[in-house]
Amino acid sequence: MSAAPEAPEAARPVLVAVDDEPSVARAVERDLRRRYGRDFRVLRAESGADALDAVRQSKLRGASVALLLADQRMPGMSGVEFLEEAIGVAPEAKRVLLTAYADTQAAIDAINRVSLDHYLLKPWDPPEEQLYPIVDDLLDAWRADAPAASDRIQIVGHRWSRESHDARDLLARNQVPYRWLDVERDDEGRRLLAAADGDASLPLVLLPDGAVLQSPTTEQLAESAGIRRRAELRFYDLVIVGGGPAGLAAAVYGASEGLQTALVEREAPGGQAGQSSRIENYLGFPVGLSGGDLARRATTQAQRFGAELLTVQEVTEIEEKGPAKIVRLAGGDELGASAVIISTGVDYRRLEAPGIDQLTGRGVYYGGSRTEGVSCRDERVVVVGGANSAGQAAIYFSGYAQHVTILCRGGDLGKSMSRYLIDTIDATDNINVRLYGEVAEAHGDENLERITVRDTRNGELDEMDLAAMFVFIGARPQTDWLPTAVARDGKGFVLAGSELLVEDVRPRWRLDRSPYLLETSLPGVFVAGDVRSQSMKRVASAVGEGSMAVSFVHEYLATPAG
Ligand SMILES: Cc1cc2nc3c(=O)[nH]c(=O)nc-3n(C[C@H](O)[C@H](O)[C@H](O)COP(=O)(O)OP(=O)(O)OC[C@H]3O[C@@H](n4cnc5c(N)ncnc54)[C@H](O)[C@@H]3O)c2cc1C
Repeated sequence: MSAAPEAPEAARPVLVAVDDEPSVARAVERDLRRRYGRDFRVLRAESGADALDAVRQSKLRGASVALLLADQRMPGMSGVEFLEEAIGVAPEAKRVLLTAYADTQAAIDAINRVSLDHYLLKPWDPPEEQLYPIVDDLLDAWRADAPAASDRIQIVGHRWSRESHDARDLLARNQVPYRWLDVERDDEGRRLLAAADGDASLPLVLLPDGAVLQSPTTEQLAESAGIRRRAELRFYDLVIVGGGPAGLAAAVYGASEGLQTALVEREAPGGQAGQSSRIENYLGFPVGLSGGDLARRATTQAQRFGAELLTVQEVTEIEEKGPAKIVRLAGGDELGASAVIISTGVDYRRLEAPGIDQLTGRGVYYGGSRTEGVSCRDERVVVVGGANSAGQAAIYFSGYAQHVTILCRGGDLGKSMSRYLIDTIDATDNINVRLYGEVAEAHGDENLERITVRDTRNGELDEMDLAAMFVFIGARPQTDWLPTAVARDGKGFVLAGSELLVEDVRPRWRLDRSPYLLETSLPGVFVAGDVRSQSMKRVASAVGEGSMAVSFVHEYLATPAG
């Protein structure tokens, strides 16, 4: 059998290792080359300045930089200083700091300063245990964002078109690699458009097999991109509705414990957490992890145990049929199940002001919309909201935009945002916080150009020019589709367990036994995560509830009368 040919030298992505001690630099280079040399060019440097030069040269040759691995203690330029400079040239690169035990604090400080992905204590022997698992993981994450050109879908469209935005968002959130070409900015985009048909309706989607889709529907794009939408079986032990952290955790536990498990997700795995640019308080990830990364890992984990994940499929109905439940999907398909877990989370509240609806997707976005990060390069953006999600987004966009304004109705960010985020915002030069401000109107013909801001204390109005606005103003559950048999509280959150036994809800519980902790008023239907009444609205609690719900499913299935 002949080995696959190596990629041409200039095109290969690059791993850069820098350490001022020549023997250490050589050892890192040797270990990296041994495992990654076939797919990556491994470059070694013995000073920050030389490493920076290597990064610049690689970018000039058109190569992508996948990994920067820097020693912290170097004369002239420390590892963190090098990373700070290098990510300006190669923002796509994953960042690892090599530290001695004594430098752990420097590494912890660098987590915020350079969005460090990992710090590695010296020595890293044996590399099979200490180095490769970490680098493998980081390169997987890098590949998910910057895959090889040949297997990429290409999307040609207008930056300010809502349809183009939605197409990109769908692929990005479902971890499907694609290349974006703006017809107004990229010559290649114009060339591809002319080659396809000058009058083609946009976005134009070019598939790796040569097929071309013009302005496809969400379903067409999902099918063509290989996103799985159809179930293999007609009946499952467990169907999970919603693929955020709670649903994904339930899928991992359900499938790993032998339940035939299917998860149905309306948009993309990850849920709200998938929109988070950096989750910093999830146990076991000291440098934080992006929501996209969490979703990618959890999806792989659930699938490895045999769970079926159907995405771009909305559940519209649950019906009780004898001991079974029928779960109906928007397209008309049905899945049977012995038990169901509802983990549909919450949706962003909409901003109500003139101009907002017309400009949504054309400069006004709900949620993090990481796909828009790069597009905001050198522009002014506004993040609306005063909670952690707004803070995270502002920090994320400050890495791209010229300036970020956080617009908050209240007078004190400290009431709704964690201290660690406020500190980072204070230390970031290109973020300012405007308190007592709310959006009164959005203006723009083709796309958002300006907003009118109202002072919430005195009603005075003034205007701000901007290119994009990201809205994070709280959330509400979308549970109207549930049958009336599933009791909800006054705000629409699903009641469960002992909440069903309080006086005015009690008549809704019809069995002699008490409901299980996360069981709804419809026996055999459980709830987990943000959609549950009184839930904590955190990734960790959603994950915890998703896994707990599975143990109640086991108990329910083991009880003869359910
Ligand atoms: C920007 C942002 C940053 C955040 N940062 C943090 C953080 O740093 N730390 C932290 O602890 N928490 C954070 N949170 C909160 C955290 O993300 C949520 O608490 C968590 O995602 C809740 O998980 P969940 O699975 O219950 O619901 P969700 O994450 O809301 O997922 C629900 C899923 O159900 C799907 N769905 C809904 N209806 C249907 C239907 N009818 N059919 C099929 N699918 C459906 C949705 O598309 C969605 O994917 C953040 C939230 C946001 C928005």
